[in-house]
Amino acid sequence: MNGIYIHIPFCRRACNYCNFHFSVSTRNKNDYIAAILKEIESQKNYFNKDNHQEKTIIDTVYFGGGTPSLLLAEEISQIVTVLNLYFEIKSNAEISLEANPEDLTKEKLREFKQIGINRLSIGVQSFFDEDLQFLNRPHNAQKAINSIIESKEVGFNNISIDLIYTIPSLTNGNWLRNLEIAFENKIPHISLYSLTVEPKTPLAHYIAKGKCKAIDELKSNEQYQIAMQAMEKNEYIHYEISNFCKKGYYSIHNSNYWKNQSYLGLGPSAHSYNGISRQWNIANTTEYIKKLLLGETAYTEEILTITQHYNEYILTTLRTIWGSDLDVIKNTFGTAYFNHCTKIATKYVQEGKIVINNNCIYLTNTGKLFADLISMEMFC
Ligand code: SF4
Repeated sequence: MNGIYIHIPFCRRACNYCNFHFSVSTRNKNDYIAAILKEIESQKNYFNKDNHQEKTIIDTVYFGGGTPSLLLAEEISQIVTVLNLYFEIKSNAEISLEANPEDLTKEKLREFKQIGINRLSIGVQSFFDEDLQFLNRPHNAQKAINSIIESKEVGFNNISIDLIYTIPSLTNGNWLRNLEIAFENKIPHISLYSLTVEPKTPLAHYIAKGKCKAIDELKSNEQYQIAMQAMEKNEYIHYEISNFCKKGYYSIHNSNYWKNQSYLGLGPSAHSYNGISRQWNIANTTEYIKKLLLGETAYTEEILTITQHYNEYILTTLRTIWGSDLDVIKNTFGTAYFNHCTKIATKYVQEGKIVINNNCIYLTNTGKLFADLISMEMFC
């Protein structure tokens, strides 16, 4: 499976917790699109470095950001058209677009549908105005609901929403209510993120100045557990630490990341991986545009060592319902890695945080609360 990620580095407003690469100015949008089109051509052999005869088949395309819904449908369409020139995008490919509620008018939704977008990931974050104001999001709760209703009316049935927990203003009761609103609206895919404090963000600044409370780890665990229980009760599959879906609504694109499949990332700050190396584009839109329009490359490449490859495998697979396969570890990385991994896993089995079934390692619900710690211990 091969996926293409396209980073759209523009946002309407800066959310106070965000450390992604974006700009609130769309001044250089046209140059950015010209640069992306150049990069598509220059990376046409990314997946087939040894055989340039045939176009690579692409299973998923994902417009992420930033805020892809800030672009016009015709701008997204222009990018898809050029992708089709250099790659073979499957007729049934999953084509996802991250969208923010404030951009989604019915007309724009219709246009996105017409150009072939078949999955929407809507940045709702909360159905409570006080939380949205705290996060400095431009939309309100009613707009979030309307964007979901209108997406469905236009014919999108593959919809995901993002929700954030551990917001200081969010009580456990309101958190559960957020989830219930998602269930009532029959959202087939829900991604949940704990509010984290990234360095140099306004949120980090407010906390350092005592203007808002520090993030409460206990509350984070409590709200995550509330979510796991509510999701299970409502028959959602917990297929990755932060992702839940109804049967058949897995994000194919993101699942491919977690299954160690190849992906090409285009646009400033985008990452790529092909099983041998990973590369990352410069996280500066002006520099990115300059380099691409001059015909230069904008990425740094690193060939993965066997240890990096093993760590990457643990990091991505342990988070998922598919688990980390001990046979794959033994056969791909060798006995030393297998022994190390088994030793740590056995320790966590005794603590009830891991189960081993059919030679695969899985996190239990308790283990999911310690996923980062357990992964780090399994790293070599
Ligand atoms: S919309 Fe997304 S990318 Fe843009 S500032 Fe907010 S969180 Fe960051």
